[in-house]
Amino acid sequence: MKRIPIGISSCLLGQEVRFDGGHKHDAYITGTLGQYFEFHPFCPEVEIGLGVPRPTLHLVRIGGEIRCVGVKDPERDVTDRLRRHAEQLKDRHAELCGYILKKDSPSCGMERVKVYGGGQPRREGVGIYAEALMKANPLLPVEEEGRLGDPGLRENFIQRVYVFYRWKKMLAEGLTPGRLTTFHARHKLIIMSHGDYRDLGRMLADVGSDTLADTAERYIVSLTSLLKQVPTRSRHVNVLQHIQGYLKKELSADDKAEMVDVIERYRRGDLPLIVPLTLLKHHFRKSPDPYIDESYYLSPYPQELRLLNEL
Ligand code: SF4
Repeated sequence: MKRIPIGISSCLLGQEVRFDGGHKHDAYITGTLGQYFEFHPFCPEVEIGLGVPRPTLHLVRIGGEIRCVGVKDPERDVTDRLRRHAEQLKDRHAELCGYILKKDSPSCGMERVKVYGGGQPRREGVGIYAEALMKANPLLPVEEEGRLGDPGLRENFIQRVYVFYRWKKMLAEGLTPGRLTTFHARHKLIIMSHGDYRDLGRMLADVGSDTLADTAERYIVSLTSLLKQVPTRSRHVNVLQHIQGYLKKELSADDKAEMVDVIERYRRGDLPLIVPLTLLKHHFRKSPDPYIDESYYLSPYPQELRLLNEL
């Protein structure tokens, strides 16, 4: 499979672009994710010509606005240059299926960046470049490297990347009512694990060629928002039980009891999600079902990422 294009703060790849000439290489990103993602590195501070090494920057509240200025030289305000740079990269950002940002940076931080200006700094800022990037690309899955250490957030980000990748692939093949409906059908169980899928389904109920572009736009906006909700254990249990229903006639009493037990142990937190999923896959290999075969829920991304082992 083609590697998925992902934007990333250059320093996370080990590029020596930080203010002090150092980097923030992240071994999980390059070692594990790098096998599946094609990284497109951006260092906005270097790209706007600040050089390496360079004086440090921070966010400061000035009047009603948050600005990115030099720590030692507050007159050195690079806010507008960083914003303009993000706008100039619009076409390159549009090719991406996700973006990994460096936390705490006044340029790249996604959230909770320190803002100075009277008293203690408050963790309420967003890096100037990151803010412009996210505003211009509201559908783009974005995450910080620090949060990728959390198994739930990591899985959620990668899930969103793969869904967005498949969405863009479908658009590239040409949007049709049939393709949109198939996309929804294949993602329905994933959607169920994040929240209520019915509104999305209703949106597509009477989609025709005349309303297609508008419906697709509303659909992906709603889907993007829903997928940001990290699935709970009980939502996964509902989906697992729903899938088990497709094996009603195929499972022996013993197999059924085992399946119920494994799902219950997952619900209690005694087993990771990979266990009931593997058992279900085993049964569907013996008793295939066309709907489940087509669904991405049982195999949402390469198994080698081992994301389900910790959920
Ligand atoms: S956080 Fe962003 S601006 Fe800072 S060194 Fe890394 S890539 Fe460059």
